[in-house]
Amino acid sequence: MSNFKRLNVNPCKMCMPIGAAVAFKGIEESMLLMHGSQGCSTYMRRHMSTHYEEPIDIASSSIDEQGTVYGGEENLRQGLKNLIKLYSPKVIGVVTTCLAETIGEDINRIVADFKKANNVKDISIITVPTPGYGGSQFEGYYLTLRKIVEQLGEKSRNKSSRINLVAANLSPAEIREIKRILDLFELEYTILPDISRTLAAPFTENYSKIPAGGTAVSEIKNMGDAAFTIEFGTLVDSSLSTAVYLEDKFGIPAYRLPIPIGLKNTDQLINTLAEISGKKIPLGLTEARGRLIDTMIDSHKYNGAGRAAVFGDPEMIYAVSSICQENGISPVIMATGTDLDIFQRKLKELTADSRDQNLIFSDTDFEEIRNYVNEYDINILLGNSDGAFIEEKDGIPLIRIGFPIHDRVGASRQQNIGYQGSNNLLDQITNQLLALKHDNYREDLYQKFYHSNKRTKSEKEIEELKVGEE
Ligand code: SF4
Repeated sequence: MSNFKRLNVNPCKMCMPIGAAVAFKGIEESMLLMHGSQGCSTYMRRHMSTHYEEPIDIASSSIDEQGTVYGGEENLRQGLKNLIKLYSPKVIGVVTTCLAETIGEDINRIVADFKKANNVKDISIITVPTPGYGGSQFEGYYLTLRKIVEQLGEKSRNKSSRINLVAANLSPAEIREIKRILDLFELEYTILPDISRTLAAPFTENYSKIPAGGTAVSEIKNMGDAAFTIEFGTLVDSSLSTAVYLEDKFGIPAYRLPIPIGLKNTDQLINTLAEISGKKIPLGLTEARGRLIDTMIDSHKYNGAGRAAVFGDPEMIYAVSSICQENGISPVIMATGTDLDIFQRKLKELTADSRDQNLIFSDTDFEEIRNYVNEYDINILLGNSDGAFIEEKDGIPLIRIGFPIHDRVGASRQQNIGYQGSNNLLDQITNQLLALKHDNYREDLYQKFYHSNKRTKSEKEIEELKVGEE
């Protein structure tokens, strides 16, 4: 956002605690308690339940006027007691909000006192400072993963051959695809967080307050013994990176990779897995790669018409812009609401040989994005459903990718990663460009030929008249 525009209109981000909520939902038998006013947890629950189409429980310490003035410690203590009684969780995430941080609540001290006073030994209570104004959901998500490992991870004497995989904010179906790929390499692994079942629970007759699945505490404790860590996060600041923490603290080699969307990014993941497993790339993956290349060849003649605006989470923008770039779709605008220095540099590198001028914005909002979308003849939008109003107002189609998606079903079943997922995504983009071509070609022809011929003819006629007059 420019210095002249400090007012955020239609923010292109959500606040830190919602990233924390997604991360904690991928931990087995966990519950989240937001220390702050009640509206924050309602806002998070609303966003997550429409995106995942699942019931989302998030507790709140519900600080009121009195708590705001005199401190919310008593609310937090009582909230923890109620939560333990109602849900019997094994893990509790205590995260802060704007209000709790502004009044200076010391959640580490309050939680330590609570555990001592109530003799809490068999529940892991993890604290994460996530003021809404401290960053976006992107930063809240990665910070929370790191805090979970910092507060639970241990080092034993047993070096293990397992690998850690720190996932980006992907869909449950994409986490299942990652597991399938890891299984093909016969690797033992810990995925953090594992939302594959917790946020896409199969229907059962009996309702469970905490859905089954998620990364087990025992697995997280052993992450310090792993042989390698792979983290989907090339734009994540090292202070928020779990892979960097595990490397610094326990000496575990870190591979920080982009989200595997597109040929190059997926190759990076698959080659890394082949290297660390010491195994040949399985035939199924080689064939899927070949099919993706075949799709790229088949569709490239249509994709050159694509002028895209890509927006959302920085890591997702990087991956989606990569697939655009390698398929001739020009990612003219790449924009995130997260305030991130490295974003400019990484996206500039990615689009260095682009045929168009690329506009890269961090810390921006949808008002600014919309202005440039119209000025730069964008014909396809790629991002979350918060950009849907540009589609409505300006008639530019939006392919919904990332988080959140409120106005369509199936976000938890979206599968855009790996060779197969990239194939799906590329087909969607190409088909949308084809639809645009078919919907508009008569008008385009009229504008290009009939309209310009007519002008030429009348210009000629005027000249002939002039000659006649002379
Ligand atoms: S921005 Fe602050 S007040 Fe608003 S929902 Fe987020 S944490 Fe709560």
